[in-house]
Amino acid sequence: MIAALLGPPGSGKGTQAEFLVKGFGLAHVSTGNLLRAEAKAGTDLGRAAAEIMETGELVPDDMVVRMVEHRLQQRDVADVGALLDGFPRTVPQAEALTEMLKRTHHQIDVIVCLDVPVAVLEQRIMQRAEKEGRSDDTAISFEQRMREYTEKTVPVIDYYRANGMHIVSVNGDMAIEDVGRDVAAAVTGVAQLPANDGRRG
Ligand code: AMP
Repeated sequence: MIAALLGPPGSGKGTQAEFLVKGFGLAHVSTGNLLRAEAKAGTDLGRAAAEIMETGELVPDDMVVRMVEHRLQQRDVADVGALLDGFPRTVPQAEALTEMLKRTHHQIDVIVCLDVPVAVLEQRIMQRAEKEGRSDDTAISFEQRMREYTEKTVPVIDYYRANGMHIVSVNGDMAIEDVGRDVAAAVTGVAQLPANDGRRG
């Protein structure tokens, strides 16, 4: 199973991804986490990415695509499938992913989008800033991240819809457990489709 979780900054992607990874035993492929790990390790990629991330802009597609390609080649993905968290975020990333998966005879089974009103997102980001101190959780960076989401990530949803992909929107403006229940139901629904049985083994 390959599932993707999309949503604006502060929509709860990280939290819901953790639930899905635990609940469905999927490998967690979070581009945000991978980039932050690179930054922490002080690699060339990490240093370049950290500067961009701080502004709230998206890291260039080729950097992210190369990183994901490498991650998807790791054994756990072949064994248990993957939850893509925060990827793809642009149409070129989505196209690159389609090609990558084609090569290994895989495809995305379900895309879950978290919907949360902008005012709630901003409030959550400001709360997270106090708790976690992430360098991109500032008012200015939040605005830029929202702009990137609207301009570059919303078209990804349209791209998949045009390709007949199974997309489920979940109301992310509820208690964490309630969102988790709806997200899990979306993924379970797909896991039970007969077309997927053979592939999972
Ligand atoms: P996240 O942890 O998903 O909120 O991502 C934090 C930041 O990492 C984003 O604002 C981007 O700067 C960068 N980033 C994460 N995923 C991607 C991606 N798929 N494409 C480009 N930039 C990304």
